Amino acid sequence: MNIKELDKQYIANTYRRFDLQIVSGKGALCCDENGKEYIDMTSGIGVNSFGYCDDVWQKAIEEQARTLSHTSNLYYTEPCAKLAHMLCEKTGMKKVFFSNSGAEANECAVKVARKYAAEHKGAEYYNIITLNKSFHGRTLTTLAATGQDNFHQLFTPLTEGFLYVDAEDIEGLKKLAAENKVAGVMLEVVQGEGGVNALSEGYLKAVQKLCDENDLVLIIDEVQTGIGRTGYFYSYMRYGLHPDVVSSAKGLAGGLPMGATLMSEKVESVLGFGDHGSTFGGNPVCAAAALSVISRIDSNFLSQVEKKGAYIKEELEKTGAEVSGLGMMLGIKTDKPVSEIISECMEKGVLCLSAKEKLRLLPPLSIEWDTLKKAVEIIKNVIAA
Ligand SMILES: *Cc1c(COP(=O)(O)O)cnc(C)c1O
Repeated sequence: MNIKELDKQYIANTYRRFDLQIVSGKGALCCDENGKEYIDMTSGIGVNSFGYCDDVWQKAIEEQARTLSHTSNLYYTEPCAKLAHMLCEKTGMKKVFFSNSGAEANECAVKVARKYAAEHKGAEYYNIITLNKSFHGRTLTTLAATGQDNFHQLFTPLTEGFLYVDAEDIEGLKKLAAENKVAGVMLEVVQGEGGVNALSEGYLKAVQKLCDENDLVLIIDEVQTGIGRTGYFYSYMRYGLHPDVVSSAKGLAGGLPMGATLMSEKVESVLGFGDHGSTFGGNPVCAAAALSVISRIDSNFLSQVEKKGAYIKEELEKTGAEVSGLGMMLGIKTDKPVSEIISECMEKGVLCLSAKEKLRLLPPLSIEWDTLKKAVEIIKNVIAA
């Protein structure tokens, strides 16, 4: 049976797939079932940091799969210990909990904030403030954290204890924090699924100050923005913020499932034996993949990300489009409907994403300049047509 038919018959109908089967890929390029080649400006939604089947990444996985594939968290293993060390070295955070996805990384973050508040203020301080248009995941707790009503309908009751306020409304945030028993605040520095909305430096610093003054746990969701995507290792570093908890996933293991929740000195000892766990969390193969990714994200690499991002922005603005976002996480607002842009680009061999009404680009961070220029030229022409 035809793969598309097989998929439609046997896979739950949760994804509105494009009429495209991807069969192979290398770097920023991939091939469909007919051998047609595409430049992929989506990187599996910000996952394939070094593109498809990157050589270094592949070698790290192969070697680890030959040595130690999986064992339980009852035992010590080298890759996850080294990975946790490297994540802490790069951030100044003190402890890491490994899981398998962004939603799980956020679940852990919420547990840390709640337990910290319970121990320091009282069990009734369980509320977490999140922002409208945020996206934090699909589990019932992270759906509750997601400040978008349309995701909530038909799945209630969701986990209790989330309060919402508009991004950039610092007075509204202060009011919510003053009038409720609050454990923490959770936000994305650039709201990804919500439309690639970059929050302002002034607002972010005001949130930091509010959290510091009221001993609120500041959780920054770096699931999409992290691992170099915005030109900094984590996007909060651009503004010198000092979150208590950082959640990471998508680009972390460059194409294998891995989530990480990073904890600062303030909360490093909140979780104790038995408080949390994950069968697959810290899996050696995924951890080896992540090590191969993050060990290559140095200041040179990050400045390339900034340069490529600035290039895309500058070129696309020439069409009169409005471009939002940071680094290589960009949203493009055009007069032409985004679905038309995406299908015309696909026709011409470039894969793009959307976020709300915007075109969204998340190219592999390692995309070569020639390939990038070719893709940008095609996107420009499609937007202008
Ligand atoms: C994708 C995403 C998530 C959810 O990650 P999953 O791995 O799909 O669970 C959470 N937060 C943000 C900001 C994301 O972009």
